[in-house]
Amino acid sequence: MKLYDTLEKKERLFKPLYDKTVKLYACGPTVYFYAHIGNMRTYISIDVLKRTLIHDKYKVKHVMNITDVGHNIGDGDVGEDKIKEEAKKEHRTAEEIIKFYTDSFMNDLKKLNIIKPDIISRASSNVEDMLKLIEILDEKGYLYRTNTGVYFDTSKVNEYGTLSGSSFEKLNKELKAGARVERPEGLKNITDFAVWRFSKPEEKEMVWDTKFGRGFPGWHIECSTMVMKFLGEQIDIHCGGADHISIHHSNEIAQSEAATGKKFVKYWFHGAFLIVDGKKMSKSLRNVYTIEDLEKKKFMPLSFRYLVLTVHYRNILNFTLDVLKSADDSLKALYVFISKTSAVKDGTGIDEEFIRVINSKRDEFFEKAYDDINIPIAITKMYEFINIVKKKALTKNEADYVIKIMLDFDEILGLDFNMHLNSEIPKEASKLIEEREIIRKARDFEKADRIREEIKKKYKIILEDTPEGTVWYKSSELY
Ligand code: AMP
Ligand code: ZN
Repeated sequence: MKLYDTLEKKERLFKPLYDKTVKLYACGPTVYFYAHIGNMRTYISIDVLKRTLIHDKYKVKHVMNITDVGHNIGDGDVGEDKIKEEAKKEHRTAEEIIKFYTDSFMNDLKKLNIIKPDIISRASSNVEDMLKLIEILDEKGYLYRTNTGVYFDTSKVNEYGTLSGSSFEKLNKELKAGARVERPEGLKNITDFAVWRFSKPEEKEMVWDTKFGRGFPGWHIECSTMVMKFLGEQIDIHCGGADHISIHHSNEIAQSEAATGKKFVKYWFHGAFLIVDGKKMSKSLRNVYTIEDLEKKKFMPLSFRYLVLTVHYRNILNFTLDVLKSADDSLKALYVFISKTSAVKDGTGIDEEFIRVINSKRDEFFEKAYDDINIPIAITKMYEFINIVKKKALTKNEADYVIKIMLDFDEILGLDFNMHLNSEIPKEASKLIEEREIIRKARDFEKADRIREEIKKKYKIILEDTPEGTVWYKSSELY
């Protein structure tokens, strides 16, 4: 397998630190509001990476944090903590906000078929470990104190900022000259960041009394600590959205490597942004969508997943409702293909030449998937595969073989192909659907509608007619 590494800025052969086990960390959400589809794009990309690794027979240990403290509005160590601010706005406690939006996020993961990380841990449950890491950094002389907190001196590390293709000198010069980023007073360098922030006297929730003072951890120290606690001082892959490259992940590298003296991460994996109608997604532009918003517009969450799969994870995805609609159509057509192919029940024997041709398309699919997770091209290989299959009158043995390959593709795609196998519904329902198809082709729409109602009532199966044929859903699948 090959993987692009943001640090080295090139594709490299993937070779984990230890044999067939992959230690993977993904920065989790800041749970102060609903996750939007931009956030979810990043988690889908990470999921596809993970599924590809699993398909390549790696055992993946996946850790994700939940940022429930220390992430400030503006990311500049000034301003309020995002969660405390939202709690005030909604007249709820921080704990209520955290619980509510964490549940909502977990629900989105499920709807999008994202495999749950092996460990999900809240930042606030790991403060003691963060303090231990801060202590190490303090003993090694990397920290200093101001009126607002304890800061990491970025001038003391070699190669600060390499991840974003910059350097300590360049960044400090640029940030001084450019539009001023609001930073706390008393910093030695503009790039320095808080590992511990002092709380205000009136703050009661999410504050800790420590030898460094009463307060709460900085956002970056959370991730460094949780990486080391759950995976070790060195890991294989660290994931996040592209916005994390220049500050969050650069700071994670600085403090982790300062503490251990070892290379922190072997491969940095960053997903490009999702934008809406050519613009950044933001509340003020009223173009923020959640998965629930898409469902209200009658889109399946997996149609959004399909759309994400059609754009390479390192390219910007320009979201519009029109492109989502065409993704929705394509996914339904795939479901029709799966149910029709799995319904083939006659004929035996296998045409060896046919099998050879479709096997080569299968191999091309996985070759592309293993080449820096090039899923868009892999998907075109899947369609070439399908087009070859569609031209042939399949025997049952051949149809079974085709389905086996489609399910293999789906190990990586995660589009729930298995839910659309003909065997998933009762034989009588499948027979009725077939009969209805004939009636529909004969344009007896009234009768076709009656059968549709009957199937819905009797079997709780919903039918939808599309240009490719009739797609059915078990009602448990509908959101
Ligand atoms: P946050 O909750 O802000 O920490 O973000 C959670 C994840 O979503 C991070 O990995 C971000 O980099 C990522 N992210 C935020 N906005 C977008 C976007 N518009 N497109 C893709 N990923 C995003
Ligand atoms: Zn992080």
